[in-house]
Amino acid sequence: NPEMTLELQIIPFASKQRLLICRDISAIEKTDIMRRDFIANVSHELRTPLTVIGGFLETISDMQGEISEDIQPYFDMMQAQTTRMRRIIEDLLTLSRLESNATLKDEMDITMQPLLHQLLKDANALSQGQHTIALHVDTETNLRGSYNELFSAMSNLTSNAVRYTPPQGKIDIFWQRQGDEVVFSVQDTGIGIEAQHLPRLTERFYRVDSGRSRDTGGTGLGLSIVKHILHHHQAGLQVESESGKGSRFSIVFPASRVLAA
Ligand code: ADP
Repeated sequence: NPEMTLELQIIPFASKQRLLICRDISAIEKTDIMRRDFIANVSHELRTPLTVIGGFLETISDMQGEISEDIQPYFDMMQAQTTRMRRIIEDLLTLSRLESNATLKDEMDITMQPLLHQLLKDANALSQGQHTIALHVDTETNLRGSYNELFSAMSNLTSNAVRYTPPQGKIDIFWQRQGDEVVFSVQDTGIGIEAQHLPRLTERFYRVDSGRSRDTGGTGLGLSIVKHILHHHQAGLQVESESGKGSRFSIVFPASRVLAA
């Protein structure tokens, strides 16, 4: 039946014997597709009204001096919340796009040096001189993958480091070879994460402290996006962190993604 999705599992059983388990997962997959489509449709429908609201808020804000002082704080709040809602919608659309593309569509040879320097520039712009940010490129290794997806995953990690590190903190970005693999990592001296939260960080909307995340412009979807991107590239995410001391987020790329020198 072409409509059916089956999952096969082979389990070693006694000596030289195998147990083959075949499960019909059609219903689970159908519900998952419905959920994904629903989120994509809702996000898409919300985009237009939000653009209109944002546009008119811009127009009003351009009418210099015409907003009374009493109204200004409410107006600022409306603008900030509109921006936040727009970010959530864009992230939800990105997630559903990533979920529905099982394979990479725009795979190419990526020269890492310019990408890493762009990441550093963006991190400095976000930090506005409040942190010391350094890039350590220890290898000339390049990658095969989607430039846009990988830039987005790496930039999520660098912007998290900036957002969760108090002013005067230090952020180090590394590009290193480890045997056959190559590792991108971001280390910060920020607020850190308690061990119990680590396994759940890549879940949608999971935040250690939702108030703080919201204040720093977070949507709670960043690491979920990172997880999907890494899955497309057969790469893994490692997180080491100590509450109050800082964190290190690393992306480990397998040898199959590394371009020959
Ligand atoms: P958000 O948009 O809330 O930052 P993410 O999915 O990017 O969402 O991250 C999930 C949560 O993981 C964050 O809310 C924050 O609590 C925690 N987190 C991520 N990166 C760091 C970091 N570098 N230092 C401390 N906490 C972090």
